Amino acid sequence: MHLSTPYDPQNIFAKILRGEMPCLKVYEDEVCLAFLDIFPQGPGHTLVIPKVAATNLLTLPTEALGPYMTSVQKVARAVQRAFQAEGLTVLQFNGAAGGQTVFHLHFHLIPRQEGVGLIGHGQAGKASEEDLISHQAAILAAF
Ligand code: 5GP
Repeated sequence: MHLSTPYDPQNIFAKILRGEMPCLKVYEDEVCLAFLDIFPQGPGHTLVIPKVAATNLLTLPTEALGPYMTSVQKVARAVQRAFQAEGLTVLQFNGAAGGQTVFHLHFHLIPRQEGVGLIGHGQAGKASEEDLISHQAAILAAF
């Protein structure tokens, strides 16, 4: 998927945005939706996607960037608080060559603790439903 490939409205995050696929939502406002990654690189791994149909950071309309990043920061603060995280890793991939696998723009927010390694991008297994539900509840309570 080249950086300038047109947006595909059938991508999985577009389906989640339209409510055609389920997600473990932790936050929503007029510009973004945030939900848990079901293949988490660490506990609490959260994805924040803009509601505007943008494939990647380069194609997001510039006027949408500020409001989106304001929401990303708001979710980041809640994710950090929920896990009393000592650190927070923020990842964002663009284009297949850049490591992107779902072609709707998203930021990854991964709470981190000292001495605990990060599972590699694309290396994680599917989380248990029980863990996901408990992490969702913790983040929802942290706003
Ligand atoms: P990317 O590689 O595009 O930066 O990240 C895509 C992310 O979406 C990956 O971390 C992957 O685990 C996650 N992912 C893939 N399919 C699904 C899904 O159906 N639901 C959720 N919640 N996350 C997904």
